[in-house]
Amino acid sequence: MPKVTIAQQILAANDAIAAEIRQALAERGIRAVNVMSAPGAGKTTLLERTIERLRGQVSIGVVEGDIETSADAERIEAAGAQETVQINTRGACHLEAHMIRDALAQIDLSRVNLLFIENIGNLVCPATWELGEDARVVITSTTEGDEKPAKYPQMFAVAQALVINKLDLLPYVDYDIEKVKRQALAINPRLRIFEVSCRTGDGLDAWCDWLMSGPWKDA
Ligand code: MG
Repeated sequence: MPKVTIAQQILAANDAIAAEIRQALAERGIRAVNVMSAPGAGKTTLLERTIERLRGQVSIGVVEGDIETSADAERIEAAGAQETVQINTRGACHLEAHMIRDALAQIDLSRVNLLFIENIGNLVCPATWELGEDARVVITSTTEGDEKPAKYPQMFAVAQALVINKLDLLPYVDYDIEKVKRQALAINPRLRIFEVSCRTGDGLDAWCDWLMSGPWKDA
């Protein structure tokens, strides 16, 4: 069988599981957000700050994806998430829907209204794999260089929101934030863009307002 056909079949099987997850979460009234970025852009930190800000307003669960270690799940738990589960992919560069299905079986979904899935740090592979999410968020940061949307267009094309993090470092780096926004909107004109600093808290109110305004159908 040609390799392309096999790859299409694997993705179709993944999408079928993702559809089951989406249905199961919808029946429980849970909204799910798939958070993606390069390593070090601030996925876990954004989730920590978000959990702290939305405490008392919404009950948050996190599926934490990493190649190895449970360090990030421990941070998420300490930040106050109601339910946390760690997936270690042992080398795989992205999460797949069957991993999410198995992870969700390990937590009490009756305690969750808003579910974050922190994907593996990678701007390529995660863009192709549906996980049953309602929204996809890509984070990029001012320390990464300002060509990310142009270099990794698919990630920006599939996302509903773009978070530009580490705004506090902008005076110290050669980063053209207007260029990043222009590139991203040229790929995906419907992208909602949030400029934030997880360190100072700048911009996090607008981000949290957007999260609370889901299901993001026209976002
Ligand atoms: Mg992380």
